[in-house]
Amino acid sequence: MPDMPTTDAALETHLADTKDARLESYKAFLRIPSISTLPEHADDCRTAAHWLVDALTAAGLEHAEAVETGGHPIVYADWLHAPDAPTVLIYGHYDVQPVDPLDLWTSPPFEPAVVGDRILARGAADDKGQVHAHVMAAGAVMATRGSFPINVKYIFEGEEESSTEHLDHWLETARDKLAADVAIISDTGFFEGNRPAITLSLRGLMYAQIDVVGTAVDLHSGVYGGAVQNPANALAVIIAGLKGPDGRIRVPGFYDDVVPLSEADRAALAALPFDEDAYQARLGLPALVGEAGFTTLERRATRPTLDVNGIWGGFEGEGSKTIIPAHAHAKVSCRLVAAQDPDRIFEAFRAYVEAIAPPGVTTTVQHLGSGFPSLTPMDHPATQAAARALEATFGQAPVYIREGGSIPVSASFGSILGLPVVLMGFTPPDENAHAPNEWMDLNNYETSIRAIARVFDELVDLPR
Ligand SMILES: [Zn+2]
Repeated sequence: MPDMPTTDAALETHLADTKDARLESYKAFLRIPSISTLPEHADDCRTAAHWLVDALTAAGLEHAEAVETGGHPIVYADWLHAPDAPTVLIYGHYDVQPVDPLDLWTSPPFEPAVVGDRILARGAADDKGQVHAHVMAAGAVMATRGSFPINVKYIFEGEEESSTEHLDHWLETARDKLAADVAIISDTGFFEGNRPAITLSLRGLMYAQIDVVGTAVDLHSGVYGGAVQNPANALAVIIAGLKGPDGRIRVPGFYDDVVPLSEADRAALAALPFDEDAYQARLGLPALVGEAGFTTLERRATRPTLDVNGIWGGFEGEGSKTIIPAHAHAKVSCRLVAAQDPDRIFEAFRAYVEAIAPPGVTTTVQHLGSGFPSLTPMDHPATQAAARALEATFGQAPVYIREGGSIPVSASFGSILGLPVVLMGFTPPDENAHAPNEWMDLNNYETSIRAIARVFDELVDLPR
């Protein structure tokens, strides 16, 4: 750690002098309706990508380009003149979600409105606000110091809200160019109120379909009932066998690779402000259930799951039809945690389903999809560097949270580029992402720029 004061005076002066221009720039970026999933906005996505190329170049970064991938461009830029220092890869996305229902917006989604401390617009938080903060932080560092203390590489994607279809392929082909020591993803937010947060982990996914087939057509249950296996009954037997009454998944080997929670992990989760009764009341449920031995917060983000997502077969209409269905099906998914391998989990799942399938029918299991989990522990040096930067700038130590869902790029940075990932995001917990009246807190936006500038200094001593 170089001799840096907690507040860099030159940086503060620069940021104060440029505050109004920065807000105008933020608004200009938000005015571009870069909705990635709608074909009629393809040109707008391209416009947003080129807007970023220009902004990154103006910030003093090099090799800024909009890389053509077959879909919306990926924006890349770097600054690589710190030969003995670590390299950080920074990720955000410039595309946004559609805006309907339009009538619920209090101001037009692509006409940014400042209301008090808030700026309202589609993308204000997810994720253009965070992307913009990164570009502004880079510009402020270069304007005040003329160099970065570490090497930086930027990737701003344009397909995160639609498919992320072309990113992984590009990561594979650009692996050498993207070599780094750590990745920072800014596409998450705070847990509660205004206290900063670092997201330590995301869950992965294994998705499968079970098909149980008997005869070619439905059978008369009076003529054949009792003499043949019923595919729907057989499917029910299989599903009932997947989990025990203690909530444990019975697939042999399922938990073998799960990284156990440390005492410190459990303490950090227990310290989060979380009202279990309010959570239950909001869901309108008579009870919360889950794997024995774990709290609700642990169950919903740090433990793997198995859920039936859909089940069908036989007669589903009004009234009654006395048949033995020809076939029955279920879609089943598992949320996975580090270090479970989704493909190995699928193989174990298939083998177990086939082993417990009742006789007299044909049972097969299809693999519908996979996603890797990701985890960067609390005590990882990169996590701690981010924590110091957040505490120095926001005035409070961050809380450590875990997400039950997935951000596929996080797993890709791990599996394709071999990088630890720090999920350092700045959006409010109730920012209305993907919904009408999306907003960002302008004070936090400003502080996030200081935090980003600070994390470069904190990463200087990252072990490599
Ligand atoms: Zn996002």
